[in-house]
Amino acid sequence: MSIDGLPPLREVIAEHGLAAKKSLGQNFLLDLNLTAKIARAAGDLTASTVIEVGPGPGGLTRALLLSGARRVVAVERDERCLAALAEISDHYPGRLEVISGDALETDFAALAAEQGDTRIVANLPYNIGTELLVRWLTPSAWPPFYSSMTLMFQREVAERIVAMPGDRSYGRLGVLAGWRTESRIAFDVPPQAFTPPPKVTSSVVHLVPRQTPIAVDAKALARVTEAAFGQRRKMLRQSLKALGGEALLERTGIDPTRRAETLSVEEFAALAREA
Ligand code: SAM
Repeated sequence: MSIDGLPPLREVIAEHGLAAKKSLGQNFLLDLNLTAKIARAAGDLTASTVIEVGPGPGGLTRALLLSGARRVVAVERDERCLAALAEISDHYPGRLEVISGDALETDFAALAAEQGDTRIVANLPYNIGTELLVRWLTPSAWPPFYSSMTLMFQREVAERIVAMPGDRSYGRLGVLAGWRTESRIAFDVPPQAFTPPPKVTSSVVHLVPRQTPIAVDAKALARVTEAAFGQRRKMLRQSLKALGGEALLERTGIDPTRRAETLSVEEFAALAREA
């Protein structure tokens, strides 16, 4: 037995035939110390509902429940995992709800409604991680339905999320995340911590929504950052030509010889409002 009184994850995987599928981005965490560390990085969960995407055999789910999360709502696409997850549900009566389905088809804001404080914590499948993050950063209403997100990404994606102007990794994702949240890399996780090990190092990123982000339309901001970073080596007067070029830059007081990677979120927002 493990410290939570449930069987070790290796046994769970063997018993339920949960050989990892690459197509579902399955890299499982079997070390309960590590999953406990991720749960801790999410903060005090005792008054919170946690939304988890991709519980798989339930390693992180168990850590979240053991750390005292009031409730966990977990969305899993792989039906093979449901029996293992049902055992966790039975062990923690009334605290774990498993939704069998695709996270890309899930209305998370509706799931969070009437749950009180809601946090998102997940070891995301890498193939849909960025897509989900972008959706969570651009919901229909702001402040959003969650009070924080604690998410595992490939290290390279994590660096793009937390990047600041001038950083090598600064781009569209950094502008979007910086506009709406304060984010930081909590810690790195080496490949050998996963079963099977991925090719690269991963990082856990913690994001807290800004209550009053700069007022700008998300679509307009996306248009400007797409154009500017689409030709990131070019000066802005060239890369923003189709959106107004020199005249636009003059109206916003931004030097047309600058490059996208030097602009702050405030400056991108100013361009988006004028374009
Ligand atoms: N949370 C587990 C852990 O930490 O060991 C598993 C994490 S694994 C990286 C990603 C999980 O997401 C897998 O269980 C996979 O089946 C699930 N998954 C993949 N695509 C999904 C989707 N579109 N919607 C919901 N879950 C998905």
